Amino acid sequence: MGIPSIEVLNINDKPESSNVPQESVVPHEREVVMGVMAIWKADPETETLGISKLHALVKQNNPTWSLSEKRLKTVLKSFNLLTTSSQFSYANEITSKETPGLSLPSTVRLQFTKNRGKGLYAAKSFKAGDLIFEEESPLFFNPPLDHFTLMKNGMCCSYCGVTNLKDNVKRGLDCNVCSETWCSGKCKKMDKLHSSLKHNIFGDTKKKLMNSSKWFSYSQFCFDNKWMAAYAVALIHAQCIADKTGLLASQFDAFAQVSQRTRYKAIDSTGGAFDSINGGALFVKEQQEQLWEQGHRAFNEAFPGHEVSYEHYLVMLGTFNINNVDGSMFLVQSHLNHHCQPNVSVVFGDSKTDGIKVYAKRSIGAGEELLTSYVNPEHEQATRQRELRVNWGFVCSCSKCKSDIKALEKRRSDSVAHVKEEEDHRNALKALKDSAKEGEDEFDLPVPQSSSGTGERRKSVKFDEKVIAFKETA
Ligand SMILES: [Zn+2]
Ligand SMILES: [Zn+2]
Ligand SMILES: [Zn+2]
Repeated sequence: MGIPSIEVLNINDKPESSNVPQESVVPHEREVVMGVMAIWKADPETETLGISKLHALVKQNNPTWSLSEKRLKTVLKSFNLLTTSSQFSYANEITSKETPGLSLPSTVRLQFTKNRGKGLYAAKSFKAGDLIFEEESPLFFNPPLDHFTLMKNGMCCSYCGVTNLKDNVKRGLDCNVCSETWCSGKCKKMDKLHSSLKHNIFGDTKKKLMNSSKWFSYSQFCFDNKWMAAYAVALIHAQCIADKTGLLASQFDAFAQVSQRTRYKAIDSTGGAFDSINGGALFVKEQQEQLWEQGHRAFNEAFPGHEVSYEHYLVMLGTFNINNVDGSMFLVQSHLNHHCQPNVSVVFGDSKTDGIKVYAKRSIGAGEELLTSYVNPEHEQATRQRELRVNWGFVCSCSKCKSDIKALEKRRSDSVAHVKEEEDHRNALKALKDSAKEGEDEFDLPVPQSSSGTGERRKSVKFDEKVIAFKETA
């Protein structure tokens, strides 16, 4: 016999039918996962609940589900979601090289440490609000993919993607070959790939490095699949091909590198549900692999003579994903490591093409590591932890995470003490009710048919408007 739990049932002001459970359904395992993820998302602290408490919450949210605790456990286990199982991380599979041609601002220095890899450190002290360094333009700039159609129709800037275009034709900012246009002379000048990517349809495509009709079908494929990373790596590849010095390619190669397949293992360990909650597609592994293969084939068709292997394509995708800030990749900024309570803030200029400025959030001593936050630092520790593990492959153990965990443990032990108090109170109440059992107001509720098989019995005592039901939990 376990601890008696208490339920308050409103019966008098509800029609009787509301107490009769609706026809129960057996949920699909993905529905179960989504149900659990919804609970975790609403309250990240529930992520550490044991299976029976979690089961109770799932049942509460989905009263018509016919789902046993055992099946819930099996489903969660098959999706690697049991909180007891150690979750997949891939930090040790990320590699990085020394960046060739890197000119560092004099205010910072780069240091390699065995544990943290590359990191940026303050070369002097800074006061809160000081500008530490600035990067005037990204190494790789990628316009937002969702403007792809607008871009094709000359409705937004062909380079940066902004939509507020004025008097473009008058200002000579439209392309005289195709229907695309730019927002400014600066963008027109920066868009060095425009004619190689978009015009060579008119020339001898066999001699070109890039096939523009295939480029359009690849871009369309990325757009249709809302696949920004695939679009970005193709733009990056195009720039690397066009760069005869080979420097760009070796700089891209020096970013922290990981295969998208490795990252996918971490996404997969949350059943893909994490991704779908964030608006991404809910792919099962086979579909994901198929999409990658399709992307790889279309990518290579766009770059005849500069094909990449499938594995390399996946590495390009993974590398873009862990290094980009809002679609762009920066040579210096990408060396900043993460802390949930960052000491720097990274601020974009008015236009995305204007680059970034990095400011001190608080005073920083010379020699201190400069740290940014890869996730929203306002999020709960469990949410941050999951995002960092899935997207960047590491389990954060920064000082903020440690103190958050301590605070959470304290709240838990306080609430355990509180529950204990309530229990004493309840026992006293029960004794009182037992002694009132002879009274006229008391009656028994029938044992609900739906709980057949659980062997659960309800004893109840009627009060003014509510029925308090006791049940013994095993
Ligand atoms: Zn522009
Ligand atoms: Zn054009
Ligand atoms: Zn942290």
